[in-house]
Amino acid sequence: MNTSELLARNARKYPAQDAIVFQSNRLTYAELDTLVNKFGSALRKKEIHTEDKVALFLPNTPEFAIAYLAVQRIGAIVVPVNVKLTEEEVLYILQDSGAKMLIAHEMVVAPVKNISAPVLKVKTGERTEEWDSFWALLEEQEDTPIRCYLREDDLSTVLYTSGTTGKPKGVLFPYRSILNVATMINIEMEVKPESRILLSMPLSHSAPLHLFFMAGLMTGSTLVLTPTFTPELFLDTIEREKTTHFFGAPVAYLTTMQMADPRERDLSSMKWWVYGGAPLSPKEVHAIKQAFPSGSLTCVYGLTEAGPSGTLLFDEEHEKKAGSIGKRAPWGTEICLIDEAGENVPQGEVGEIALRGEGNMREYFRKTHETEAVFAGEWLRTGDLAMQDEDGYYWVIDRKKDMIISGGVNIYPKEIENVMLEIEGVNEAAVIGIPHPEWGETVKAVYAGTAEEEKVRNVLEKRIASYKVPRIYEQVAELPRNASGKILKQALKGGEL
Ligand code: ATP
Repeated sequence: MNTSELLARNARKYPAQDAIVFQSNRLTYAELDTLVNKFGSALRKKEIHTEDKVALFLPNTPEFAIAYLAVQRIGAIVVPVNVKLTEEEVLYILQDSGAKMLIAHEMVVAPVKNISAPVLKVKTGERTEEWDSFWALLEEQEDTPIRCYLREDDLSTVLYTSGTTGKPKGVLFPYRSILNVATMINIEMEVKPESRILLSMPLSHSAPLHLFFMAGLMTGSTLVLTPTFTPELFLDTIEREKTTHFFGAPVAYLTTMQMADPRERDLSSMKWWVYGGAPLSPKEVHAIKQAFPSGSLTCVYGLTEAGPSGTLLFDEEHEKKAGSIGKRAPWGTEICLIDEAGENVPQGEVGEIALRGEGNMREYFRKTHETEAVFAGEWLRTGDLAMQDEDGYYWVIDRKKDMIISGGVNIYPKEIENVMLEIEGVNEAAVIGIPHPEWGETVKAVYAGTAEEEKVRNVLEKRIASYKVPRIYEQVAELPRNASGKILKQALKGGEL
């Protein structure tokens, strides 16, 4: 089974069903199948063949869906690129992946200078000297069905990690992996042909792409795309399109709550609100639950390398376990906690999360050393430290790379950040270790908000052990974040990414 066969199946079984909704435009599954054949033919004429890599610099648009599916239909490999990346970052990905072509959309500023690969610059409207019309290009192609024999072990995608802890790494996925994690979502989140999945997070990320775009394609549901995420567009689209499923990074929920009161809108169609991709404090989780009361709130924990599925925390579990990442998905990946030597750690002790399952990546592209380091046998080391409580729930303590060792003692910044975020006047917080001649590292707190340093220090002194209380404080306008909204601690430490 592969994406091409799934699309052909949907076109046969649900030809008149809306496959893609974008603003006021609609494409049925029969239309999408035809357009994918046509774009596949256009790519072949441009000398793209089986196993070539094609990078997509496209926002969430019908053009993305058609290009993504067409590249895979001709047996080539998709390299989705986040449209928020800078020129330097995009060039790095193009060079690292060896993409044979870049497809860029007029809606985003594509860094096309200095690219050695050919660039197909497309726009939605009429052709101009600089931009080809995506739709005119399709009209010029014959509607000849393309059938390319693909196995589940064939490569489908190279997806780049978000680069929070270093340079992004290209993660190789065979069809088997992406279909596996999508099946997990279908089963656990009841995705059906009548479901309407809102895709507002960039499809260049594993969770929106492999969990939800793919889940919709598997079941023949309707995919509602927005080219960007803004709270207004997000809420308007749910109301207008009566969507049922949404996955958002924590930052999407939090910014929406800052800008609007979701309870004043009709969001009653929503059955599943899914969040994940970065930590949330229990207080933030409770606030989200109150602000989005209709439907089930569900946490997904995972990472690109795991497809990204790892664990789930279901709605009803939030009352007692908000802030936890839950347990392994009942249908899906296995999880355990291991120490440096790869041995299991006992319940109640901190260990590194390791994941095993069909969703795991095959390897990092052209990074043998990193691939060997990340796998302990079949188990993928996540770099996340966690503890399992007496009920079997997992709690992420911190990322291994973020742990501070001061005077030989381990300090987990997330614990301190969670307390800081409860202080009135602290909107964002990051705790980092900075070099200290005597203790190895000392604790520094960086925060955005109006709270006075003294107030922050006083609260922390009351709430946490003195050796964890930050010695240095810095107040900033906002914390540096990467294109996926994650805080860049390396940048705060003054390091290179
Ligand atoms: P890079 O590997 O390039 O540094 P990255 O790890 O940020 O980038 P992703 O795969 O996008 O790339 O992020 C995965 C990480 O996000 C996980 O390892 C974990 O630290 C964090 N994460 C994901 N989901 C959750 C969650 N529900 N709760 C807490 N943290 C999460």
